[in-house]
Amino acid sequence: MSDPTVQPVPTSVVEQVDAADVTLSNPRRAVLSLGSNLGNRLDTLQGAVDALEDTPGLRVTAVSPVYETEPWGVEPGSQPTYFNAVIAVKTTLPPGSLLERGQAIEEAYDRVRDERWGPRTIDVDIVAYADVVSDDPALTLPHPRAHERAFVLAPWHDIDPEAQLPGHGAVAGLLAAIGREGVDPRPDLELRLPE
Ligand code: ATP
Ligand code: CA
Ligand code: CA
Repeated sequence: MSDPTVQPVPTSVVEQVDAADVTLSNPRRAVLSLGSNLGNRLDTLQGAVDALEDTPGLRVTAVSPVYETEPWGVEPGSQPTYFNAVIAVKTTLPPGSLLERGQAIEEAYDRVRDERWGPRTIDVDIVAYADVVSDDPALTLPHPRAHERAFVLAPWHDIDPEAQLPGHGAVAGLLAAIGREGVDPRPDLELRLPE
């Protein structure tokens, strides 16, 4: 059953940032992490996947299985569990425009930011963008904590067992090193890859 408080992403929000978009001539591969721990978590994840697919210059090429995960960086039991997934995309958007698109989707789901790692309807992070390495705080690439998060590495490994995290090596090895504690597969749930 869908949660009536979570509305579909209004297309106006997705269109708003179009004017700011810059496009590249060659599509690049990027990996995004999606997380939700408020509202109808599965519907929201699917809504974010669909909104990303509806983005001009972006195609979703793979969608991972769904994991139910313990909130990261906060007191155990203090927040609802997350549903997490990872998607692979091919895009002509440069990294900054891709980040803006993710933030527009977060806003469309009324994401509130009042505490670090606070509960949220949807979080869209850029895990990696091609082989770009950047320490810009507004967009750090790869994501500065991806290598230590099983909720990112496990679903990424599912869709790409050979994946490499720039600067950190093979995702398989990183995942083996940290383990899968607190990250439970939910094979009863499924995200659709948009047609
Ligand atoms: P974490 O970064 O530990 O996953 P978070 O997702 O809760 O925490 P947010 O509040 O969503 O953090 O984001 C804070 C800022 O992080 C954003 O405003 C954004 O500019 C910046 N940021 C830096 N690198 C990235 C990245 N790779 N993907 C998404 N946001 C990033
Ligand atoms: Ca995050
Ligand atoms: Ca984020």
